[in-house]
Amino acid sequence: MSKINVSEISSLIKEQIKAYKNDIKTENIGTVIKVGDGIATVYGLDNAMESELLEFPNNVYGMVLNLEKDSVGVILLGDYLKIKEGDLVKCTGRILEVPVGEQFIGRVINPLGQPLDGKGAIKADKYRPIEVKASGVMDRKSVFEPLQTGIKVLDALVPIGRGQRELIIGDRQTGKTSIAIDTIINQKGKDVICIYVAIGQKESSVASLVDQLYKYDAMDYTIVVSASASKPGPLQYLAPYAGVTMGEEFMYNGKHVLIVYDDLSKHAVAYRELALLLHRPPGREAFPGDVFYLHSRLLERAAKLSDSLGGGSITALPIIETQAGDISAYIPTNVISITDGQIFLQSDLFYSGVRPAINPGLSVSRVGGSAQTKAIKKVSGTLRLDLASFRELESFTQFGSDLDAATNAKLERGRRTVEILKQGLHVVLPLYKEVVILYALTKGFLDDIPMNELLSFEQEVYNYLDTSDEGKNIANIIMETKQLPDNSLLDNCLISVKKRFI
Ligand code: ATP
Ligand code: MG
Repeated sequence: MSKINVSEISSLIKEQIKAYKNDIKTENIGTVIKVGDGIATVYGLDNAMESELLEFPNNVYGMVLNLEKDSVGVILLGDYLKIKEGDLVKCTGRILEVPVGEQFIGRVINPLGQPLDGKGAIKADKYRPIEVKASGVMDRKSVFEPLQTGIKVLDALVPIGRGQRELIIGDRQTGKTSIAIDTIINQKGKDVICIYVAIGQKESSVASLVDQLYKYDAMDYTIVVSASASKPGPLQYLAPYAGVTMGEEFMYNGKHVLIVYDDLSKHAVAYRELALLLHRPPGREAFPGDVFYLHSRLLERAAKLSDSLGGGSITALPIIETQAGDISAYIPTNVISITDGQIFLQSDLFYSGVRPAINPGLSVSRVGGSAQTKAIKKVSGTLRLDLASFRELESFTQFGSDLDAATNAKLERGRRTVEILKQGLHVVLPLYKEVVILYALTKGFLDDIPMNELLSFEQEVYNYLDTSDEGKNIANIIMETKQLPDNSLLDNCLISVKKRFI
């Protein structure tokens, strides 16, 4: 039998004391006192934080939205029917996060990053909190690179720059979604990752939209985040934040992102529903007092980062639906004041066949001008004024028959301008085609083309640019230098097209 002496025992005990880890953890645990409609009220979570993730039984999670004196209001993510009064709730100490990364490109997902397209699970190794402080002024740079929409009237009159927030606003069925989708389709081959966030839409509309994106190969660089109308309010509330969080992962890696929120009116309504269920006091139009903050903190996250941070960007196109063209309602005025301009769509234009139905008087882009390429800037300088004076003249001369030659010429030019600015659905144009056709318009090359032949002449110009050596040269100059080629080059080209056309 071996003998252990006293000093050995004491050193053994000392070792053990050293190795002893204090494993006692204090956990903040509360109890559900009320649950229903996707909302739970929890008692006893004194240390809960705003936006903290809470763990409920049965694998249900919740997010803290209301911090009250002796309870917290929680929105439930997951099957809230499994939660009942008296259930225990644990704080996790973490802000709600969503998985991010390139593996989501090409997929249709819900705001928690789970697939909705039946193409198998998405493995994520990185997460980001969905609520973060937007980058400050010092982290940003002025917007200067264009984000081409491929839509003539927008690129000419309401140019959008990378990092900008441009609102698309209009009544029901005026082509709001179509403008956003066409802009996504036009990003093909331009190194821009697109994120389309569908909030409170019908599942069938989202499905047909995804079909369109596939058809134009746009899913190769697009993520669709969907919280449809049939999904609980909490998911609809989270959708845009989840989308921008995924975008931030790309932006902070120096990439360019385009994000569409379709639409924020429905988002505001989902938030109002949650707020009323949480017994927050209703304010104007029954929206809670912080509904402005709801959208401002979201749109503030669109940015153009400085070079030291990689120069990435998030361009945001929020969509707002108006009632009978009323842009002075609560939510529209809020979002107009947060964004850097708006594209205003009008139903009477839409029904009279002017599509896209953009009202050039009310549509502006406050920063896009500095991001417009020189070539298109040169050919579209007078376009807005021309259009405005045409509308005025048109209504003024409606009943007159004898007009002097100058007025007549102005009217004819105006009609041709309106006609040329029309554009079919999903027909997006490269920069050089936009530039040349607008050059032809503003230099009077179209004045003697009969109105009913204008469309085929336009096609002929595009054909010529794509097939003839002369045209290809012009296209190259515009695409490489972003400058307007010599007038003589353009004039000769248009004269050749005219010869072929007649
Ligand atoms: P909602 O209010 O229902 O969301 P919306 O304003 O998003 O509607 P869209 O769904 O984009 O409008 O378009 C409405 C209809 O108009 C669609 O059927 C679409 O095909 C058609 N449309 C949109 N833009 C054009 C266009 N430039 N040329 C021809 N048709 C168009
Ligand atoms: Mg729509």
